Amino acid sequence: MLSALRSRPRQLSLFDETPFWDQASLEAAILRETGREVRLTLTDNRSVLLSFRRRGGAVLLRLHRMFLHAPLGVVRAVSRSLRRTSRSADGEVRRFMNENLHRVRKVPRPLPPLVTGGKHYDLRQVYDRLNARFFAGGLHVPLTWGRGGGRARRGGLTFGSYDPVLALIRIHPVLDRREVPSYFLESVVYHEMLHHHLGGVADGAGRTVYHSRVFREAEARYPWHRQALTWEKENLPSLLRASQELDRRRKAESAAFRR
Ligand SMILES: [Zn+2]
Repeated sequence: MLSALRSRPRQLSLFDETPFWDQASLEAAILRETGREVRLTLTDNRSVLLSFRRRGGAVLLRLHRMFLHAPLGVVRAVSRSLRRTSRSADGEVRRFMNENLHRVRKVPRPLPPLVTGGKHYDLRQVYDRLNARFFAGGLHVPLTWGRGGGRARRGGLTFGSYDPVLALIRIHPVLDRREVPSYFLESVVYHEMLHHHLGGVADGAGRTVYHSRVFREAEARYPWHRQALTWEKENLPSLLRASQELDRRRKAESAAFRR
């Protein structure tokens, strides 16, 4: 969730390279293109980037995670290969794989240590409450207080983010304060849980829309959604100051550590 003094749309936090897809939306896109039941497994396999076999009426497809970054054209080409109706598709897919070899990691990126206990709020409790209330306890997504810093931009602050590759929710530590009402923290955590739950939806141009109409409707089901927006607007300047203060302290601490 990105917030700004000027009215800027909230977005899924943008990493250096935000993937176009998450697993569910990629699988759905391939299913749309092939019209067949597709079961997608994402791999970190370094030697086989794409493989598939048929079992019954279904296609069991294994793709390297790099395909989360594949534009719609490449996803269509993959789908054509699955139908084996086009030979040219193979070339397009191969080109994409060659251009994305830098994404083939020696080791998969590990989850960072998860810290849910805070000075004032326990994220685990917030998460469990929301999970029980809105997801029938069915959501399984790790979350952690983030380190803060690096995320604050000119006039804005990213309170929470969802990393679709790690499937990890990070919450900005500036929210771990008594002054922050629990409904505001809850609304931020709930927003990121929805990103995990709903994934992205491809629009006509092949871009992934994260804040779809369905997302907004689900978000508005949080009873204090409006109050949270109002509180955010009124308190953003003080949150920005607090986050800069956190940043300064963190830098001082790491400088002391290096000495
Ligand atoms: Zn968002």
